[in-house]
Amino acid sequence: MANPSARLLEGAPIADEIRAAVAEDVISFKNTNGRPPGLAVVIVGRDAPSTVYLERILRGCAKVGIKAEFVELEGEATERTVVSAIRQLNADPTVDGVIVQMPLPPTIRLREVVDAIDPAKDIDGIHPLNAGLLRLGYDGFLPATAHAAVEILRRSGIEIAGRDAVVIGRSAVVGMPAAFLLVREDATVTVCHSRTRDLAAQIRRADIVIVAAGHPGLVRGADLKPGAVVVDVGINVVDGRIVGDVDFGSAVEVASAITPVPGGVGPLTNALLLTHLVRAAERQATDRRIAATKLEPTAALQGDR
Ligand code: NAD
Repeated sequence: MANPSARLLEGAPIADEIRAAVAEDVISFKNTNGRPPGLAVVIVGRDAPSTVYLERILRGCAKVGIKAEFVELEGEATERTVVSAIRQLNADPTVDGVIVQMPLPPTIRLREVVDAIDPAKDIDGIHPLNAGLLRLGYDGFLPATAHAAVEILRRSGIEIAGRDAVVIGRSAVVGMPAAFLLVREDATVTVCHSRTRDLAAQIRRADIVIVAAGHPGLVRGADLKPGAVVVDVGINVVDGRIVGDVDFGSAVEVASAITPVPGGVGPLTNALLLTHLVRAAERQATDRRIAATKLEPTAALQGDR
């Protein structure tokens, strides 16, 4: 039956709450450590489309008192230059988090760059160590978009445990981490992708559908189980407008709750990235304090001689 009043799961109010908490954490970090948490964004070639997204992250950092900087490398930078820039940032104690602009130019191997990031500073969860921690159910850094896709459900009070969830997309940065997070929340999860035989049949079984395929109109209202909850991660430009992967007009008639695009997962992604950064800063500061106290007994012994 048509349900024109599907609840709109908006990211902005949740993001505002998260940012307010981050601003407080930043003040307390500053009081303890004498400096704000620091983020570095490595950019290879200024004209890539993702620069707009990264500039938004920089503005978001400024608003909550985080020190953020672009480390800009020439568009023709070699793999070695990029890796060496990352290593410098790893060694800089005022930089707590490192993000690298994606996609990289085709001449640079993704794996080499990802491996170079210190896992303790990998606030977008792309290093294999953090991916492995998520896979094993341990605490690590989560890819912010996948985190946002599941966090929007949790913070909106949507029940996840025991429900059938379908994730459309199996990328390392969105689909797969979202699926692992849903498993961690006790959902029964099916991952669909470009070779899935009957996508509509999979979608029809699902209480929760997370769509991250990069195909506008991939999921229509007629595909959904009535009352399903739909999280649309897709970002596509169609006729100069930003749209998701879900045909919103038809889906809103059938779903019980749905995220809009823009205004759903996107704002939450940016806010969660800030929480990851503050956590990275706090953990590294704690590790440094522990390392410093471990040295103390030796110093005391030397004084006794
Ligand atoms: P990707 O291209 O790496 O992966 C797309 C996935 O979708 C693949 O696993 C592919 O198998 C699957 N797929 C493609 N066509 C399909 C089809 N017809 N049926 C079923 N599965 C299909 O993309 P990604 O980096 O995972 O991003 C996915 C989408 O999320 C894109 O639209 C991207 O712009 C968007 N995105 C949004 C945010 C955000 O903050 N909201 C952040 C990152 C990416």
